[in-house]
Amino acid sequence: MARYTEAACKLCRREGEKLFLKGDRCYTDKCAISKRAYAPGQHGQRRKKLSEYGIQLREKQKARRFYGILERQFRKYFEMAANRKGVTGVNLLQILESRFDNVVYRLGFAPSRAQSRQLVNHGHFNINGQKVDIVSYLLKPGDVVTIDETSKKLARFKNFAESLQSRPVPEWLSLDTDNIIGKVVRLPSREEIDLPIQEHLIIELYSK
Ligand code: SF4
Repeated sequence: MARYTEAACKLCRREGEKLFLKGDRCYTDKCAISKRAYAPGQHGQRRKKLSEYGIQLREKQKARRFYGILERQFRKYFEMAANRKGVTGVNLLQILESRFDNVVYRLGFAPSRAQSRQLVNHGHFNINGQKVDIVSYLLKPGDVVTIDETSKKLARFKNFAESLQSRPVPEWLSLDTDNIIGKVVRLPSREEIDLPIQEHLIIELYSK
């Protein structure tokens, strides 16, 4: 599985925004961006005026980093979004939200998308009763996410119900906390995707 290897906090500092890549730490005063709100590196504190292209590029990089996706895959999602009916930018965000690692994160099963990717990759979750360890698997309305029976015996899943993240589960998903069963009710509307992404800039970039 290809993935980012650059330090997570550097990515936030590069974008000048919290990308919430480190789970609980992001909500504490240990967050690197609250201490050093400038780009990493020797020239990080210099102010640069970005060109139109630069602004579009930064927006795309930010979106990729939020979801932890490499360029090639991200472009594939753009092409997929452009081929769907509806508004391409919203389609793109819906595709990103319906990735397996994102759904596991949104259900509160993991404190960050990075940790969610690791749990999925280790085969701890099922979709509709079948083990799936592909983080990029795209879920559809009606799909049900559960913990794999063998993983339930592991110490980390023993008291999982109590350890579920306190983030509210978005309305396009449902969660039975007693039995730890998550479900995709429908695809999210644009208003339900709470990330500060200006998707029209990404579409403009890829449409050149
Ligand atoms: Fe970003 Fe989280 Fe690091 Fe803060 S702690 S800089 S939000 S990854």
